[in-house]
Parts: sequence; structure tokens; C-alpha cells
Amino acid sequence: MLNHPENENPDSQQEEQHSFPVTAESRALVLVVEDNPQMARMIAATLAPLYRVITACDGQDGLEQTLALHPDLILCDVSMPRMSGEQLVTMLRAQPDFDDVPIVVLSGRTDEQLRIQLLRAGAQDYLIKPFNREELRLRVANLLVMRQVRQVLQREVTVQSRDLVTLASKVTLQQRELTQTLSLLQEREARVLDQAKELEVRGRQLERANKALTTRNRQLDHMQSRLRAIVDTSQDAMLFLTPDGIPAEVNMRFTDFFGIDANTVLSQSANHLTALLKAQFAAEVSLDEALAWSTTDQERIFAAQQVQMEPTRREFELFSLPVLNLDQTYIGRLYVWRDVTHEREVDRMKSEFVCLASHELRTPLTSIKGYVDLLLTDETVGELSELQREFLEIAQNNARRLMNITNDLLDLSRMESGKMELHRKPLDVNLLIHKLMPSFQPGWDAKRQKFTLHLPEEARMVLGDAEGVMQILSNLLSNAHKYTLEEGHIDLSVETVGPVAWISVTDSGIGLSTEEQAQLFTRFYRAHNTATEAVGGTGLGLVITRSMVEMQGGEMQVSSEPGHGSTFRFTLPLAESLGGS
Ligand code: ADP
Repeated sequence: MLNHPENENPDSQQEEQHSFPVTAESRALVLVVEDNPQMARMIAATLAPLYRVITACDGQDGLEQTLALHPDLILCDVSMPRMSGEQLVTMLRAQPDFDDVPIVVLSGRTDEQLRIQLLRAGAQDYLIKPFNREELRLRVANLLVMRQVRQVLQREVTVQSRDLVTLASKVTLQQRELTQTLSLLQEREARVLDQAKELEVRGRQLERANKALTTRNRQLDHMQSRLRAIVDTSQDAMLFLTPDGIPAEVNMRFTDFFGIDANTVLSQSANHLTALLKAQFAAEVSLDEALAWSTTDQERIFAAQQVQMEPTRREFELFSLPVLNLDQTYIGRLYVWRDVTHEREVDRMKSEFVCLASHELRTPLTSIKGYVDLLLTDETVGELSELQREFLEIAQNNARRLMNITNDLLDLSRMESGKMELHRKPLDVNLLIHKLMPSFQPGWDAKRQKFTLHLPEEARMVLGDAEGVMQILSNLLSNAHKYTLEEGHIDLSVETVGPVAWISVTDSGIGLSTEEQAQLFTRFYRAHNTATEAVGGTGLGLVITRSMVEMQGGEMQVSSEPGHGSTFRFTLPLAESLGGS
């Protein structure tokens, strides 16, 4: 049975000062569990001005109302039908939702033991019947205040613990981040350590390489200074130009010869250097060509003669040759000046001696040959026996041979000592050839050799020394006759090519191997074959012939094949190409 005696308010004015809580809705709900209706009504009346009051008629009713309405405080009698106060307290305290609802036990004075039990079971306070109404209100108010304070504290604790949880989770998060950062740092540290180790290894390698390099550099320096010393000690002056024509190396001998120190040479352009050198040399036709620093020419090797006039007179042989690296790349051109002053002087003295000797030999030799010829031909001398004639013919042959040798030596030494004088003028080669032919005809007839002449229809004048040209032609025709067997062919042709006339003597004779051809123009060289041995000769004819050709501004060529004859050809400049003078 439910009673709601909230409006039964016998002394409401007195209760105002204890009001708690203030508004009707927020007023605390007090459940009065009392089987005595009068008592229940009295209690309800006492509390109603301050609280919302509900009543239950016994423990069972009290439990049901508690579960349904959640009172803020319970006033509970001890002895009640159906469910005692003790059972109610025990059951409520077993429910977590109600363990903070204050329970005030209302007991009689005799129930002391029971009251203690109830307090143990979870009741907060007790009132001994009959009790003062004011005490009831105070106790209820105290308990409610305490409960509210506890709830406020509880909420605070909950809020704070929630903050703490948030904080803790933040801390956990930060801790996790820190842990991650730490492990990243550790990884990085490990990597840095690895790199440091690698760097250390590399450093050691570099140090070793550096040492090796230093040693190699020292060796290179040593080699370089040794090479420099060797190059400087050389008797020849050396100058090295890069492919761009820039002076790059020069030795000490260069400075000795030309008085231009290395620094000056290396700071000059090739053209300026040419000007400096030219001022020291005798003006020669070949000088410009010799000093044209043909650094772009990667193949040609050339040599030239130069005569230095200032500061000292020196005769040089200048060689110029391309320089290739080990890998065969062209790195520049080397110019070498060899001082041949002394050799030239000795050569000149030798030539002069030979010239003098041959000249002196020629006079008695001419006399010997003349008298032998007279003995053999002049009938006034008297009859000669067969044996005397034979001996005199041997003497005549050898005198003739000796005469040839002497003449050749005289010619050669004159040429070499520069004493041969040439008088170059326009010549009709055809005419010269026709003049020569009669002297050779008997020889050709004797060996039944066929001579053919190939002359251009229109004769062109060449520039040359008549005697010299005759000597060249004689030597070549004489050789062709000598080294061609009986019934062989000899051809002489003249043709004009550009500014020169090519004059060729071709024979069907014994021919020459490549090796023999390479030595043809060496003094006293004679090929080893029966034909050469059978005919007389000095081995000087071709040397004289070529010099004679070159002295007249021509060049000479040979082509030959053993057993198939030879062609000796030479050029003479056309008179008109040189202005006819
Ligand atoms: P020489 O005829 O007095 O021996 P040369 O200087 O004229 O001297 O010739 C040198 C050598 O060249 C000769 O001994 C000969 O062996 C060779 N020779 C010259 N001309 C011919 C030729 N037309 N055919 C073959 N061999 C030749």
C-alpha cells in the first residue's frame, strides 16, 4: 500500500529554515518504510515541508518502491511484516545502484542488538522511538547533505579521473610517439655509425691512394727531371710545338744556339718565333718552307739545311717530325737543329782535296793515255808486235777507266764544294738529244740494240745548263746501253707535264730489285750482277746525275723490275714557266 502524505504539513512555517533542497523538483525524495500508519504519517508530516516524502507499509513494499522510485534517503522501521528492516537493508546494500542511499533505522529502545546488526548491514544512522521531530529533520538533513557532498565529490573524482584518463592516454600517445622517435633516432644513429665506419674505411683507402699517388708523383718528378736533363744535355737544339702551333717545350741547347731563353720561346707565337729565328739565318729559298711550322701535318718528316749568321756562324741540319703518343695519337711536332758546321767543313776539305787530287791526276793521266793512244794509232812510231799491241790496249783501257774515275771524282767534288758553275739558259732538248745520238750509235750497233726516240711534235724550250743536261743524258743513255743485253731496246722520250718537261730513258735490260734501287744514289754503289761486273764503272755516275738534275731545279725518279728493264726519268723546268729568262 502506498501513501503520499506530502501535503500533510502541520507545522510548515517552522520547517522553512531547514529547507533542503530549495525547488520542488530538486527536493530530495525520502522514503518512509513503517508498518505503523500513525508513525509513518507523523514522520511524513515532519519531513514534507522540506522533502518529497513517500511511504511504504513494510519491508517488501519499501524494496519495491526503492527500486521503482530511487529515493534519496530511506527511513526504515526494524520489525515489519513480510520483510523486516534488516532484510531490506541487506538487500539494498547488495544492489550497487543503491549502496550510497542513506538508510536511517527507526527502532525501539529494546532493539539495541538488532540496531547494531543493522548498522553493520549498511544502515547509516538510527533513531530510537519515540524521537524528537527536530532531531529527525536534522539527521535526515545531515545525511542528505553528506550524500550530496559525497556525490559532488564523486562527480569531481569522476571528472578528474576522466581528465586523468585523457591525460594518461595523451601521455601514452606521447610516450608512444617518443618511443617511435627514439627508435627512429636509434636507427639513424646506427646508420650514422655505419656511415662513419664506411667513411673511416674510405678514408683509409684514400690515404693509401694518396700515399701511392705521392710516391708516383715523386717518381714522375724524378723521371721528368731526368728526361729534362737528358734533353738539355743533347747536342741538338729541340723545340716542340703543339698541334695548334704553340711552342710547348724547348731545351737548353736551343737557348745556347739562338740566344732565346725558354721563357721567351714559350711565351711566343710560332710566327713571332719564326721572325726571331729568320733574323739570324742566311736568306735561303728553303728557309721559309723549313720554318713554316706545319704542325697540322701529322705524317711528313722533312729535313732542311740552314745557315745561321748571327750571333755565331753555324750550319744546321733541321729535322722536323710528328710526335705520337703511346696510343698513337698525334700530340705535336718536334723540330731538331743539328749543328753540322764541323762535318760540313771536313766534307768541304775532303771535297777540295779530292778535287785537287783528281785535277792533278788528270794532267799526267791525259799524257799517259795520249801517248798510249799514239803508240797504238800513229804509224810513225813503228810496227808493233801482237804482244806489244795487246799490252798497250790493256794499258789504254785502264788509262781510259782511270780517266773516267778521275773525271767523275772531279765532277762530284766540284759539286760538293760548290765549285761547279752552271749556266742555265733556255735550251731545245730535242736538239741536244740529236747532238748526242751519233756518239752512242756505234755502241748500239755493236750490241744490235734498238734505239727509239719519242719527241713531241712541238719542241718546248727548257731551262738548263747545256753541258749539264748533256752529261745527265749521257750518263743515263750510257747505263741503259751498258746494262741492257744484246738486241735489247732503248727508248728516249720527252713529254711536257704542267710547268716541266719529263725526259725518260727506258731500257729492256737487266733491271734492279727494290733493295738495289734504294742504294742507287749512294756513292760508289754498284749492283752485284754479271752485267755490272762485265762492264766498267765507278758507281758515281748516278750520284753525279741526280745532283746535276737537282742543281737545275729538277727531280729524278727510277722504276725498275729485275729482268724487265728500267726507266730513269728526270724533269727540267720549262723556260716559259720561269719567264723564259
Ligand atoms: P756505274 O755505271 O759507273 O757503275 P752508276 O752510278 O751509273 O755507276 O750506276 C750505279 C749502278 O747502278 C751500276 O753499277 C748498275 O749496277 C746500276 N745501274 C745503273 N743504271 C742501270 C740500268 N739502266 N739498268 C740496270 N742497272 C743499272
